Amino acid sequence: MSEVPEAIRAAYDPERFRADGHRLIDALADQLAAWHAREGLAVPWRPPAEARAAWAAEGLEHGELVADLMKVARASTALAHPRVMAHQVPPPLPGAALAELVAAMLNNGMAVAEMGPAAVPIELAVIDWMCGALGLPAGAGGVLTSGGSLGNLTALLAMRQAHAGFDVWKEGAHAGPPLAVIVSSDAHYSIARTLRIMGWGDGGAISAQVDAEHRLTAAAVERALDAATGSGRRVIGIVASAGSTATGAFDPLSELADLAQARQLWLHVDAAHGGGVALSATHRHLLAGIERADSVVWDAHKLLMMPALVTAVLFKRGGHAFEAFAQQASYLFAATTPAETWWDLGQKTLECTKRAMAVELWTALRVHGAGWFGQVIDRQIALAHGLAARLRVAGFEVPLAPTSNIVCYRHVPAGVTGPALDAHNRALRTQVLEDGRFYIVGTQLPGGFHLRSTIMNPLIEERDLDDLVAHLVELGARCRS
Ligand SMILES: *Cc1c(COP(=O)(O)O)cnc(C)c1O
Repeated sequence: MSEVPEAIRAAYDPERFRADGHRLIDALADQLAAWHAREGLAVPWRPPAEARAAWAAEGLEHGELVADLMKVARASTALAHPRVMAHQVPPPLPGAALAELVAAMLNNGMAVAEMGPAAVPIELAVIDWMCGALGLPAGAGGVLTSGGSLGNLTALLAMRQAHAGFDVWKEGAHAGPPLAVIVSSDAHYSIARTLRIMGWGDGGAISAQVDAEHRLTAAAVERALDAATGSGRRVIGIVASAGSTATGAFDPLSELADLAQARQLWLHVDAAHGGGVALSATHRHLLAGIERADSVVWDAHKLLMMPALVTAVLFKRGGHAFEAFAQQASYLFAATTPAETWWDLGQKTLECTKRAMAVELWTALRVHGAGWFGQVIDRQIALAHGLAARLRVAGFEVPLAPTSNIVCYRHVPAGVTGPALDAHNRALRTQVLEDGRFYIVGTQLPGGFHLRSTIMNPLIEERDLDDLVAHLVELGARCRS
């Protein structure tokens, strides 16, 4: 048993890693150049059943690492292709992907400090920087976790523990009066899911209607609060959006903070999409008031161009970060009070083992500087305005001027209204997908089904906007015939 068998040794051979790595990086760089040159499809769409059968037929034997990985790359949606204008997912900074490779090699799970002697302090530095970027006061803090959905759950668990008026963690969700929060009618679905996970059922979310600009105003929250009186539910918080998913609208956070303060409610701001706007001198006013939120969720895998997933859950009073999972695990966490073990980040997240996700953002900040991100975001937003203007000129309906980098629009052939208009736009979106040269998505707005584009790729140029509009006009005419 003393000798390592050849099959095991070969798989771990540093020289093999070196050779594979060089070939892979060369192949990926060539692929990236091809995407940037607008070669190939934006989305290599195949019907899911056909794709499943094709990949199953590949089998799970006789692979070759680099060839296999490039096969995956070519069959994937090409986020780096400037004709992808769809979901809120960026083409990640290539350097951040390299940082992720290093983090994967190190595999420091970082639930406890000695399993992340570099990753833990780097995460704390990144969290401090994010709190500072939002203007949160001294004493703010938080944690990185895997995605905005888990982030919203973490923040609202802390809210409940802090504001329920009874010890939910110890006594259970139903040991006190039934609770609720006021939620924007445009909130991300993860909020409704969180409230149900917490055991609050349908009544846990009291919906407040957004205004014509899709913003949750204090007046709407007050109306919802009044309506909740007598419902038997104790309202403990308000959930606002800073960059709502459907339209990219930003709720007026200052007036919501005033109201939350007056009514002693927890204010949670879901800034998963829009948090990055804090880095833009031109647009950061959209976040005015966020520094008064009790909790904030901010996805770095959206406007900060990180590979998924890197989400910050930030608390104005950093100690709240320990309330979401107010639990002791004696085999892991050494001391008895959070203040003594602030370095054991696993106390603040659902995750036990966690990817060293701060490393990629930390290196990106050091290499490019925060100002670079502001420049990227300004360009994304300017391109979104450019797209909206071109669509209007081409006769599309754009119900809202874009606030950030999200544009909703629909094709309106003469005389087509109501359900037929929805069906037409759904058919158009399907045609775009099946064609594959461009990628856009769709969303349901109060006025009906709309097409939707989020400008994430800072390498998009005005000619790509022109080409998308021309493509939609052409396919839109074909849908009609
Ligand atoms: C994207 C998004 C989420 C969900 O975040 P994931 O990282 O995809 O889990 C939540 N809220 C808003 C406003 C979002 O835009």
